[in-house]
Amino acid sequence: MASAPAFLAVRKLPTLDLGDEAALAADRAAFAAEGDSHQRLCRGSLPIRNRLEKESGVDKTKWLVLAGVAALVGAFFIFDLNQYFSLAYFKSQQAAIEQTTQANPVQSALAFFLAYVAVTGLSLPGAAIMTLAAGAVFGLLWGTVIVSFASSIGATLAFLTSRFLLRDWVHERFGDKLRAINAGIEKDGPFYLFTLRLVPAFPFFVINLAMGLTPIAPRTFYWVSQCGMLAGTIVYANAGTQLAKIDSLKGILSPGLIISFTLLGLFPLIARKILEQVKARKVLAKWAKPAKFDRNLVVIGAGSAGLVSAYIAAAVKAKVTLIEKHRMGGDCLNTGCVPSKALIRSARLLSHIKRSREFGIRSAAADFDFADVMDRVQRIIRTVEPHDSVERYAALGVECVEGEARIVSPYEVEVNSADGVKRFSTRAIVIAAGARPFVPPIPGIEEVGYYTSDNVWSLRELPKRLVVLGGGPIGCELTQCFARFGAQVTQVEMLPRIMIREDPEVAEMVTARFRAEGIDVLVNHRAKQFVVENGVKVLIAEHDGKDVRIAFDALLCAVGRVASTKGYGLEELGIPTTRARTIETNEYLQTLYPNILACGDVAGPFQFTHTAAHQAWYATVNALFGRWRKFRADYSVIPWATFTDPEVARVGLNETEAREKNIPCEVTVYGLDELDRAIADEEAHGMVKVLTVPAKDRILGVTIVGEHAGDVIAEYVMAMRHGIGLNKILGTIHIYPTLAEANKYAAGRWKQAHAPARLLTWVERYHAWMRG
Ligand SMILES: Cc1cc2nc3c(=O)[nH]c(=O)nc-3n(C[C@H](O)[C@H](O)[C@H](O)COP(=O)(O)OP(=O)(O)OC[C@H]3O[C@@H](n4cnc5c(N)ncnc54)[C@H](O)[C@@H]3O)c2cc1C
Repeated sequence: MASAPAFLAVRKLPTLDLGDEAALAADRAAFAAEGDSHQRLCRGSLPIRNRLEKESGVDKTKWLVLAGVAALVGAFFIFDLNQYFSLAYFKSQQAAIEQTTQANPVQSALAFFLAYVAVTGLSLPGAAIMTLAAGAVFGLLWGTVIVSFASSIGATLAFLTSRFLLRDWVHERFGDKLRAINAGIEKDGPFYLFTLRLVPAFPFFVINLAMGLTPIAPRTFYWVSQCGMLAGTIVYANAGTQLAKIDSLKGILSPGLIISFTLLGLFPLIARKILEQVKARKVLAKWAKPAKFDRNLVVIGAGSAGLVSAYIAAAVKAKVTLIEKHRMGGDCLNTGCVPSKALIRSARLLSHIKRSREFGIRSAAADFDFADVMDRVQRIIRTVEPHDSVERYAALGVECVEGEARIVSPYEVEVNSADGVKRFSTRAIVIAAGARPFVPPIPGIEEVGYYTSDNVWSLRELPKRLVVLGGGPIGCELTQCFARFGAQVTQVEMLPRIMIREDPEVAEMVTARFRAEGIDVLVNHRAKQFVVENGVKVLIAEHDGKDVRIAFDALLCAVGRVASTKGYGLEELGIPTTRARTIETNEYLQTLYPNILACGDVAGPFQFTHTAAHQAWYATVNALFGRWRKFRADYSVIPWATFTDPEVARVGLNETEAREKNIPCEVTVYGLDELDRAIADEEAHGMVKVLTVPAKDRILGVTIVGEHAGDVIAEYVMAMRHGIGLNKILGTIHIYPTLAEANKYAAGRWKQAHAPARLLTWVERYHAWMRG
């Protein structure tokens, strides 16, 4: 079993600022130097660091504000000040108050204003009586003006107090549950607030306090409140001018008036919905709508997204047609995940043979032909093929059509197939047209020729010298494969590190392994030009202002993938694309046309098979049932892995993103060099790195580097998806000896760092006492 880990201390990172590579390097060095210290505080960029440094000060201020508010509210009730805010009391004092006001109008108005701000700012009862009094004493106009400003300022003070005292606390505990509400408030906040202000059913002070917990900006809160409350203020101030006729507050708002206010409050929301409908109708109005539709759904593209979309539609008994112009299964089966993982497996075997001594085998050799390896890759594709085949989908109830689809109207799709041109009318369309490799327009690239992930699978002869352009997941996976087969690989990346989305130390672990395996990893190298010199292909790259020349036999271009958005009707229909060149969709994955939806690589923002399938569910359900209920695509917990050796898997935030987004977090690291199974497997390297909310076991993100990281991380994905914290992972039995145990040990590291020191001192004393 793994030995008990050493005592852990929460460690402070050195001075660190965002984007400062030198500081990041210092951070990494400090991290490495501390060796045994596995738990630390992720302190964010400068603002967040300052924020954390001031945390204790902030806490003190919070307690002071809380004590001040509690004292004032307490005094109000203890001294029974409540009695002065009754209709009867005001009526009894009305003459005297009016006399004072006439004698000192400005001072009286100011005193009244301040009292009103105090009452509303402290969320005390009495605002309604004070509004009546304002009308009675200052008249309709001035009463309304004074109350309108005083109530808005008071409301904003209550809002700010609630935000200052409670928002962090509430978000820490209920952050997950509030995410959707917060997103709604960020988008539609002013509309909601306006409605709440007008609908009399929602109490004034509750709205102030509740809104303080949302992300709405104080300035927006102020002006929307002032506008929203104006009508009610006028009604009350006006009632105040005829105070003699009023016996209670109840009569002021008649049922008719309440209904009118409610309708007025709902108006912006209803108007918004109507606007959406009108906009949708307007874009559709230009197109002739068939009286009847041949199909409920047409899906364009039979890759991961399209297949899932068609499957779901057929499962719910919709009439669905799936159109594929090339090969069923799309990228993932034919040129992506499946061939790359098959190639990785063969390359891995070679690496194990090379490492045979580590396993106690004095010598082992591999005799292989690269063409056989590539044939095996095709055999694996053929084995998986039936899962995505026309036969399988036809049996499920999907009509599969081979041919190139083109959207000719929001209700019609034309297919150009071997049998000629066909046209299908359909209620909805799901675009799942995928992406293709991006080839940068570098001078000379066409002349030297290149491979991409589309055609590299046709290679049968191993290139002697291979240049891989790009340090992303595809570039890294293929770089290592080709190097393991014996190619001399140079990987060229223009950014400061490969795997730029991952934390620097993660990229460093992979880079170190690559270099140990003989790969020339060139970062900060910008490919400038390709030339042929004396029959030799050469890449000229710029590094530190100087030209570097790299001779090669073959070039693999892996610098990213662009969505396929051209040539099938998007331009004609005016469907816009984003800056990332994906199809622009709303949160329901609808395009400009509400009945045309998009999912998978063509829609972004992710480019994974599992996210394509995930989106396909939303797109299909919204396409078929959207008129009754629509579902927002949920991207809250998205995992992914890069299948290099060591494998890198991630879910949620990493440390770099936490800093960029100023999210305070604690970082717990468990090194796999301590894990029994990893040691037995000769794979004792890598780590499990968990980010949690400070002083809480709530998981913000996990990165795992090591053997089978993509599988091991599943437990954390599940935990994050269902709000399970580290305490529960620690309390779960894991099979010994497995790699999955690392998850539990990481949770144990966290727990140790949060051991209740004071309590343990007492327990120690107890044991000493028991020993006599
Ligand atoms: C080398 C490599 C390795 C990868 N490894 C992984 C991995 O390990 N894990 C992972 O999750 N992801 C991986 N990916 C990414 C994954 O393959 C894609 O994210 C996924 O395939 C996207 O699915 P999709 O359905 O959106 O698009 P695609 O699979 O590209 O499918 C789109 C389909 O639409 C068809 N089409 C386009 N236009 C038309 C038209 N007008 N008419 C008819 N048909 C049309 C295309 O022919 C294509 O078949 C990898 C990708 C590559 C290139």
